[in-house]
Amino acid sequence: MKNTKSKFQVWHDDNGIANIDFDYVKSSQRDNNEDRYGCDGCFICMKPIKSSNHNFWVHYTTAGTLINTIKEVEDSQGCFQIGPDCAKKLPSDFVFELLRASDWQYTPED
Ligand SMILES: [Zn+2]
Repeated sequence: MKNTKSKFQVWHDDNGIANIDFDYVKSSQRDNNEDRYGCDGCFICMKPIKSSNHNFWVHYTTAGTLINTIKEVEDSQGCFQIGPDCAKKLPSDFVFELLRASDWQYTPED
């Protein structure tokens, strides 16, 4: 079976945090879907997210990357919700299950 996850180049920044460039992750239909549905949809593809008990989020930075930590970092733009289908396409350590957007600011290390 083809492993679609291998297409993402993961690189590490100076803090040892794994990054994936968002340009490689976002759906080619993202701009079209944003025109059609608005900008409240899945961050990857901009399709509307159906309500569910499971909410998936990604952590986006000003460098235009997704990172694999929920801890707040200097260049964080915050966490954005994604749909379950797009969540499956990403490496699992880049997807966080949270109840609310505000949950991401929880940092157990502090
Ligand atoms: Zn999506």
